[in-house]
Amino acid sequence: MSFDVDLSAADEVEVVVVGGGLSGLVAARRLTDRDVDCVVLEAQERVGGRLQRTGVRGAAFDLGGQWIGARHSRLLELAAELGMETFPTFHQGRKLLDLDGRLSTQKGLIPKLSLWHLWVLHRALSKSDAMRRHVPLDAPWEARKASEWDRKTVEDVKRELGLTAPVAALFDASVRTVFGAEPGAISALYFLFYMNSNGGLRRVIEIEDGAQERRFVEGAGAVPERIADALATRVVTGAVVTSITDQGDRVLVESAAGLFAARLVIVAAPPAQVARITFEPALDPERLRLLQGAKMGYTAKTFAVYTTAFWRAAGFSGEAVAAGSSEGPFTFVVDNTSWDGSVPCLLGFRVGRPGRAAPKGDELRTAALKQLVRFFGPQAAEPVEFIDHDWSEDAWAGGCPVAGLPPGLLTATGHRLREPFGNVHWAGTETAEDFCGYMEGALEAGIRAAEEVLSRL
Ligand SMILES: Cc1cc2nc3c(=O)[nH]c(=O)nc-3n(C[C@H](O)[C@H](O)[C@H](O)COP(=O)(O)OP(=O)(O)OC[C@H]3O[C@@H](n4cnc5c(N)ncnc54)[C@H](O)[C@@H]3O)c2cc1C
Repeated sequence: MSFDVDLSAADEVEVVVVGGGLSGLVAARRLTDRDVDCVVLEAQERVGGRLQRTGVRGAAFDLGGQWIGARHSRLLELAAELGMETFPTFHQGRKLLDLDGRLSTQKGLIPKLSLWHLWVLHRALSKSDAMRRHVPLDAPWEARKASEWDRKTVEDVKRELGLTAPVAALFDASVRTVFGAEPGAISALYFLFYMNSNGGLRRVIEIEDGAQERRFVEGAGAVPERIADALATRVVTGAVVTSITDQGDRVLVESAAGLFAARLVIVAAPPAQVARITFEPALDPERLRLLQGAKMGYTAKTFAVYTTAFWRAAGFSGEAVAAGSSEGPFTFVVDNTSWDGSVPCLLGFRVGRPGRAAPKGDELRTAALKQLVRFFGPQAAEPVEFIDHDWSEDAWAGGCPVAGLPPGLLTATGHRLREPFGNVHWAGTETAEDFCGYMEGALEAGIRAAEEVLSRL
């Protein structure tokens, strides 16, 4: 921050919150509920960050996060407080698995594999489930085997678990869908922490009793919008924060919307974005390494809207998993029809390395529809709307859905994750203990940071 600025022009508040995503907004909501004078500085012209909705033929579809998990109790409570209705995710009917180009259907959760492969799958899930229970959520770096697990990638653990080729392909598809990243890019310790934080791999990937159980009638993007509406002028958009100067008795926050002076600051932005802010005094090297090393995954969502839910009529749930060397841009497809059934929709996810390598523009449309036709028949060829949203093009998210940690970082720098830096406190889903990476984690972290600040005012 340049010291020739006129400090008398600074807006004075008790707390500045950097980032108007769910986490920052919930922190500000908690603070204003306790009569604390605060302001939220949001870089973009809209609030919500990784939550963003769009209107399609009268229905609200989420370009970003959308599902509420079975155990996301803070989010369900918030939804009730905001008067927002939810509905169960449609999942009745046969599911599809495209494994190395071979298509099979299944009724329940168990894929059509030979008994040997199913046994290997069961053994791997049980083993990883047992391992993740040894990772403490508040301090994963203190797990008894933390150093050993943090030296390895998820790919290494896959090898040790002796996965057969089909099981390994299914596992890769799950890791890509959950992190938007390759198993070789993620620390095994971080993976185990993440699974423990979210109740295990089964819960993470499943609909019923899992992380995809319900959706918001108005779209999850309406949650931050509604909180921001209530905060009114306390939310300033178009306010990119460029520097944070901690002077001990106050903190100066320089933004595109002007200079703010506060007693305390909560930073609720994704790690890579925090690393772009200039801190004075400078962030300690461990913290900087953590922020710069946490890499956002690749996730893009494609919505194909139809006049009828023809796949439901044919007995399909709309769920399809493409694993191994299957053709097509999507790793995961799901029924995304509006709550009242009036806007039938299939939603495809392009994730991880194959997602990144998928074609763009018209070629993407051709490849996407070819894959949907293969799954659900010729009617899939003619959507009435085709909408694609690639989160790697969002400069303020820098990818999605979550930042993953490569080997070595969690044990070396993890203890800095939530530790206040002078008068600066940390929120954002990546700092959550519970449900890290999800909306529920964003809430947990925002509320925790607000409580930390309240205890100091
Ligand atoms: C495609 C996709 C699918 C997902 N699916 C689900 C799901 O189904 N269920 C679920 O629970 N979660 C899901 N998630 C994750 C969920 O969206 C996130 O966990 C949550 O929204 C994160 O909120 P946050 O406030 O921590 O961060 P963000 O939403 O990233 O908010 C951070 C904010 O900080 C702002 N910012 C950054 N830098 C600055 C700066 N220098 N100055 C000022 N402002 C700044 C950004 O613009 C942004 O608005 C998904 C995410 C994506 C993208």
